Amino acid sequence: MFARSGDVEKAAGVLRAGGLVAFPTETVYGLGASAEDPAAVARVFQVKGRPPSHPLIVHLGRVEDLGDWVEDVPETARVLAERFWPGPLTLVLRRGRRVPLEATGGLETVAVRVPDHSVALALLSAFGGGVAAPSANRFGSVSPTTADHVRAELGDAVDFVLDGGRCEVGVESTIVDATGDVPSVLRPGGVTREELEAVLGHPIEVHSTSRVRVPGQHPSHYAPRARVVLVEPENVVAEAELALDRGHRVGVLLPPALAGAEVKAHAVVAVPSSMAAYARGLYGFLREFDRQGCDLIVASLPVEQELGLAIANRLRRAAGPRLSE
Ligand code: AMP
Ligand code: MG
Repeated sequence: MFARSGDVEKAAGVLRAGGLVAFPTETVYGLGASAEDPAAVARVFQVKGRPPSHPLIVHLGRVEDLGDWVEDVPETARVLAERFWPGPLTLVLRRGRRVPLEATGGLETVAVRVPDHSVALALLSAFGGGVAAPSANRFGSVSPTTADHVRAELGDAVDFVLDGGRCEVGVESTIVDATGDVPSVLRPGGVTREELEAVLGHPIEVHSTSRVRVPGQHPSHYAPRARVVLVEPENVVAEAELALDRGHRVGVLLPPALAGAEVKAHAVVAVPSSMAAYARGLYGFLREFDRQGCDLIVASLPVEQELGLAIANRLRRAAGPRLSE
C-alpha cells in the first residue's frame, strides 16, 4: 500500500516531465507540480477547479534551500524556519525570480515550506527542485488525509499518487506572513499560535480576513457535501433530533463533554478529547458523513487554543455560506 522503492523515483520523473503527483505530507496530501514549470502549475489549477489567482505553496526539501526561492530571508523568517522546519509552518516571503507568477497567483510574494514527511522529503530530494502544491482536493472541498481520499476525489486527473499512509497532523500548515517587520498568522494550522509566540517572544496576530488572497479564507472551504451546523456543545443532541424530525439524514460530531450521551442520528462520531487526535481525524470524519449520505452535520467548536484554533477555523469555513447559495 505505502510507497514502494521505485515509486519515489517514478514520481520524480513524472514531475520532471511536467506531470502532476499527489504526495503525502504530515498535514494533508498535496497535488504537486514542478514549481518552475508554468504549464504544469497551470494544470494544478485546472484539476482542482481553483481560480488561478489563488497561490500555491512551494515545497522545498531542505531548510538551506530557502534562499534560492525568495528575494531575501528576514531574520524572523530565518528563526522560524530553523525552529519549525521540517514541519507544518508555511512562510510567506518576497518571491524569488525562480518562482513563476503562475505559482503565486500573480503575487510578488511566495509561500514556502519544508514538509515533515519521509516520503515527501524523499520525493523532493529525488526531484531536486521545488514542488508547488495545494491540497489534493477539488476547490472548496475537504482536504485528503489518505491516498484513498485522493484517488476517490481526483482519480485519473492526477498522473501519479504516492501513498504515504495517513497524515499525522491532519489539518493544513500554519501560514505566517513574514514579509514585514511584524509577522502575522494568515491561516491557523499545525504549528500553534502558542508555539510561534514562545519562539518569537511576543504575541502574534491571527487575521480572520486578509488583504492577501488566501483560499482558506473563502466563505465556504474545507467543506463536505453535507451542510455543517455549529451549535453550543450542550445543544448538539437537541439540534440533531430537531434536524432528524425535519427529515434530514444527520451526522453528529459529539463533543468530548457529551461522551456516551444518547443521540439520535444516522452517524455519530465521538470527537477525541486530544486536540491532536481530533485534528488528525477531522477530515476523515467529514468524508465519512458524506459517504454515509448525511445531508446535515451537527457540530460544536472546540476551545480555540493550541490545535483547537485550526480545528475551529476549518469547522467555521465548512459551515460558511456555499458559493452556490
Ligand atoms: P491550499 O492548502 O490548497 O489552500 O493551498 C495553499 C495555501 O497557501 C493557500 O491557502 C494559499 O492561500 C496559501 N498561500 C500561498 N501563497 C500565498 C501568498 N503569497 N500569500 C498568502 N497566502 C499564500
Ligand atoms: Mg486546500
